[in-house]
Amino acid sequence: MPFDEEKQIQQLVSLYRRGFEEILRIIVEKEAKGQWTQYWRDLLLEVRAILQQLDQYADQWIEQTIGQVYSQAAAQTAVFLSQLGIEKLARPEFAQIHQRAIDVVAQNMADNLRDATQFIGRRINDVFRRVGLEQIGRKLAAGQTWQDMKQKVVQQLLDRGQTAFVDRLGRKWRLDAYASMVTRTTTREAASVATLNTCQEFGLDLVRITTHYPTCEKCASLQGKVYSISGRDSRYPKLTDERRPPIHPNCRHVLVPYVRELDDNAEETERLSNQPLDRDPRSEAEKQTYAEMRDAVTIATNRKRAREVLYNEAAPLEDKLKAARKLQRSYEKTGQKPKGRDAAILKQYRDWLDEQNLVKRVGHIEPKMFEVIAGNITTNEVVLTKERLKHIMEKHPGEWEALEPYLAQALKDPDYILRDKKRRNTGIVIKKLEQENMFLALRLQTADEMPGRKNSIITLFRISEKRLKGYLLRGDAVYIKIKPDKI
Ligand SMILES: [Zn+2]
Ligand SMILES: [Zn+2]
Repeated sequence: MPFDEEKQIQQLVSLYRRGFEEILRIIVEKEAKGQWTQYWRDLLLEVRAILQQLDQYADQWIEQTIGQVYSQAAAQTAVFLSQLGIEKLARPEFAQIHQRAIDVVAQNMADNLRDATQFIGRRINDVFRRVGLEQIGRKLAAGQTWQDMKQKVVQQLLDRGQTAFVDRLGRKWRLDAYASMVTRTTTREAASVATLNTCQEFGLDLVRITTHYPTCEKCASLQGKVYSISGRDSRYPKLTDERRPPIHPNCRHVLVPYVRELDDNAEETERLSNQPLDRDPRSEAEKQTYAEMRDAVTIATNRKRAREVLYNEAAPLEDKLKAARKLQRSYEKTGQKPKGRDAAILKQYRDWLDEQNLVKRVGHIEPKMFEVIAGNITTNEVVLTKERLKHIMEKHPGEWEALEPYLAQALKDPDYILRDKKRRNTGIVIKKLEQENMFLALRLQTADEMPGRKNSIITLFRISEKRLKGYLLRGDAVYIKIKPDKI
């Protein structure tokens, strides 16, 4: 069976993803019973077992795959050079050089992956210790402490990205994204080193860095250049470690053998190879295309992560809502319409929100009356959400029952409209009742807010004549109804 590098990479990365998900699942689901320290120890044991298993899988993978990647690149280079009539030098020490190169690359990869699993194991342990200490300081009743502590641990581990791995350069990675980066970068590195050593085995001193379009600012000044491996060919710069691809994580550049006689533009290549590295040679169009490609990758990653949460039955509701918003925004950003499963799941999410938010349409306003408070009012509809109704019932008992019958009339035909000095885009609708006055705070829906929303009642209660006079004397009114008998 032919060797499929991409498939191998995908396999290892999906193992890391499953391991990561498994750790989160254990943290969320493990039942909190018995002693805190016992619970902590048991949980850590389970997490460590998963991390250890990942390390073992990784070791196996590295042993099988890195050698194959290396051999494949070495063989390709050898075939290419042989076909040109270039012969392998009789230098038996190269067998050892190849083996040592494979060992070094493999060891680096194993170390890098172990950094991540060890880091995460330590982090989880730290969170437990910290939460434990905090709680001891607070001296809560025993039963209560227990649930609180577990809740805290879960929250800290999930919310604050504590399960993310911070690499030596301070960048944050999710375990599977990090494994993917390490794997891709290492396989590129194995291929580059294999090419390099095989060229030397054949006595060829020149290598070229491949060219890709579009490319990043780091690789742009390096790609297409020819380097002298030994540094003895004065026509080209010496190949140093910084110039040897991969240049950065996930870099796709590799080295290929360079035979000057085969290059129709040898002069031009030589000139290019000696260009300084501190200048970005890319055209504006290429920079733009590269940025767009990066954006597309970011969007694809965001969508993938959002779907992982949304399609996961066990994910908490709060996380699902966050993920749905993320998915929704990714579509808003590109102006695309969600399709298929995404469309279905986003519709579910909107329906759910509507169900939570929209209790009833309570009436209509005349937007012109509110112009001084907010320009660009986009709708005359007024709604009351479940959340606000709850607020009114709890904070102003009895008011809803008393005022509901007059709502529609008050909105349509207010006696006064006051400016709300604390809240933006909000007006106070005053309606005179037989005894007192209705005070209704109304949030206005303008063009610069989330589209699709309606004007919405914030709060509702009765105020006395005296208090109303106070507002009017202060000059808060922006609209006063003219009584017919005063015309
Ligand atoms: Zn690059
Ligand atoms: Zn690159």
